Amino acid sequence: MSSSVVVVGSFNVDHVWRCESLPAPGATIAGRYSTGPGGKGFNQAVAARRAGAATTFLCALGDDAGGAMARGLAAQDGFELTAEASAEPTGTGGIYVDARGRNTIVIGPGANAALSTAFIEQQRPLLAGAKVVLAQLESPVETIEAALAIAREGGATTVLNAAPADAPSSIGLLKLADVLTPNETEFAALLGRHVGERIDADNVAALDGASLHALCRKLVGNGTVVVTLGAVGVFVSHDEDTLRGDTQPYYRVGAEQVQVADTTGAGDAFNGALVASMAQDPGAAFARHVRFANQFAGRSTEKEGAAVAMPHFTPADV
Ligand code: ADP
Repeated sequence: MSSSVVVVGSFNVDHVWRCESLPAPGATIAGRYSTGPGGKGFNQAVAARRAGAATTFLCALGDDAGGAMARGLAAQDGFELTAEASAEPTGTGGIYVDARGRNTIVIGPGANAALSTAFIEQQRPLLAGAKVVLAQLESPVETIEAALAIAREGGATTVLNAAPADAPSSIGLLKLADVLTPNETEFAALLGRHVGERIDADNVAALDGASLHALCRKLVGNGTVVVTLGAVGVFVSHDEDTLRGDTQPYYRVGAEQVQVADTTGAGDAFNGALVASMAQDPGAAFARHVRFANQFAGRSTEKEGAAVAMPHFTPADV
């Protein structure tokens, strides 16, 4: 099976505590503990596969139980995992989730921070041959730049989920993305860092379409920007010359009505489903991919967890 989606990014062993409320500084509280797979890269690869795409995940793993967990789960979910063997431990995440589904996360990057450009260079045929290549920023920025540049050269469509918000990035990196997918916090951070626009992340969803569109254009020039707005849904902004099959340069899609159990990984669900739809139906209007991803991400919040909460349905099912 040739891979139509390649996801480049992180794998973490997540340690999750479900608590009544998030712990305040200095507090000791009790929570219900569980452990499982995570990392934005892995979560997005699981989502892409469950949304129907032949998927390969490129990552770095330690020679430890976490590395074995990643390989086992990828095999179970039916996607390829190609890993750089790292001397560092496999990445870890510590996650608190409160009774309202809000979360606070600490990441131990470990092997993820050592994913090398040399390894990515070795994967050139895979990246160049993919339909869509998706990356995030939990790996070294130069490695992600190399992956997107190789993908572009080969004719793959590139998607960058510029997350987390405090990760280093550059205008050069953003321009390597055909589609950029920040959430509100990441969008505000990118605007502040790269184009000197100071906006409050909490106000992003309330901005009118024309203002949001102008900010998106300022940030990337001619790429498409999809700003995910949590429970509000999604905002899409295209360059006038590259509407990706859409009829409007900018529009909103409202979120699905769902019973939220846990929003951890909602952005990952959205990104994985978006690229899966793009790869499986390259002729469809971009709005169709966005609607599918919005539906998929909404349903992912109905179950607890990130990777384990990804639903199983494809664009052909809706
Ligand atoms: P992140 O997880 O990166 O913070 P968002 O919170 O923006 O990302 O969520 C990503 C997407 O998941 C949203 O654009 C939407 O499609 C879906 N989603 C998130 N929260 C909800 C919700 N409460 N109800 C319905 N859909 C949601």
